[in-house]
Amino acid sequence: MSFSDSPSETKFREKVRQFADRHIAPIAQKVEDGYFPREVLQRLGEERLLGAAFPKADGGLGLGWVFETIVAEEISAVSAATEMARLASGALYAAPFAYFATKVQKRRYLFPVLAGEKVGALALTEPKAGSDAASLKTYARRTGRDFVLNGEKRFITNGGVADFLFVFAVSDRSKPSTAGLSCFVVPRESRGLEVVKAYGLLGMHGANVVHLRFRNVRVSEDNVVGGINQGFPILLDELDRERPAVAAGMLGIARSAFESAVDYSMQREQFGRSIREFEGVSFKISDMAVQLEASRLLVLKAARLLDEGKSARLEGAMAKLFATEAAFDVAHQALQIHGGIGYTRDLPIERYFRDARFMMIGGGTSEIMRFLIQREIYQGRTRRSC
Ligand SMILES: Cc1cc2nc3c(=O)[nH]c(=O)nc-3n(C[C@H](O)[C@H](O)[C@H](O)COP(=O)(O)OP(=O)(O)OC[C@H]3O[C@@H](n4cnc5c(N)ncnc54)[C@H](O)[C@@H]3O)c2cc1C
Repeated sequence: MSFSDSPSETKFREKVRQFADRHIAPIAQKVEDGYFPREVLQRLGEERLLGAAFPKADGGLGLGWVFETIVAEEISAVSAATEMARLASGALYAAPFAYFATKVQKRRYLFPVLAGEKVGALALTEPKAGSDAASLKTYARRTGRDFVLNGEKRFITNGGVADFLFVFAVSDRSKPSTAGLSCFVVPRESRGLEVVKAYGLLGMHGANVVHLRFRNVRVSEDNVVGGINQGFPILLDELDRERPAVAAGMLGIARSAFESAVDYSMQREQFGRSIREFEGVSFKISDMAVQLEASRLLVLKAARLLDEGKSARLEGAMAKLFATEAAFDVAHQALQIHGGIGYTRDLPIERYFRDARFMMIGGGTSEIMRFLIQREIYQGRTRRSC
């Protein structure tokens, strides 16, 4: 397993970096002011930068998950909120289609999203079901060939702007949720689908995160992805795949904060010398560099395992836990190195700090990552001793 980018990965990274500099950097402040970057998603699709992980036959680039993490890191390094919109549509929404949908469903609901023409969102979390995703209440009642959905979903990224929602709902209440869950594609124009509110967020301004209500929303059986009552394995697969990409996004923020801190510590003078000459500053840079390197290696390992067709449940959880906590710490230290100016809106440092806080919660909290990691370790021991 290689611990650095291959020549093709380096070339691809350069391409995404150029895209981000050209098309995202100029609107990063506008996004920060609350603008949803739909045109960026469109352009990413046009320039064939969406769906790096998915097979070409499914409208993807056929490159794999390492390339997906490269996109996540490079876009997030410039605008984490733009990356959040991309990730929710081009990875979280798209992944279950790529691996579980029929050809017809892919043509209708995946291809246009990967082409950047349509936007997707993944709707799992509910008011009473957050970390405990197996306790969903949204109910899909069967009526002939249709299902009728009732319930609420909250904190749904892209939820107010998405053309299609990928919704997890209970389809058989007589079974435990692991056996009675189904996945539905719900088009935006469906009757009974309502945006209750858009949330104001600490960071990730410009991301569209909403509370949704489903009131007798009728969905055809044709819009069930992966088979009726087959939703739970799809959920686990989706969560396992998203974690390296989420971690890579946080690595992008950390990298930008780190680079700013290095530059600033070389330029800023106090007591007649640049502040980098004080160990109180330069040792912070050392610690940040180690955190970045460790995050990068964990992300790469998890993504390479996925590309080898192996499970990355343990490694993905480790990558997400470490990279998200490291990103917040790196952003915190970078702000400290900038002193007062770091706390102002004159520089993007305070934005990195706010944005980096999110992913210790989103996509499974740090506590849940720790839970998953210890479970994998103990299960591995039990398997070996049997
Ligand atoms: C900005 C934003 C965007 C989001 N986007 C999406 C999206 O697009 N789609 C989607 O479906 N969801 C989305 N989410 C939801 C996100 O995944 C959840 O917020 C997250 O999983 C935590 O759930 P919760 O907020 O209900 O917290 P809770 O589950 O109520 O947790 C509260 C606290 O209890 C802790 N806790 C809970 N259970 C345990 C345990 N067993 N052991 C130890 N500690 C525990 C948690 O770690 C946390 O600290 C988003 C959230 C935010 C804030």
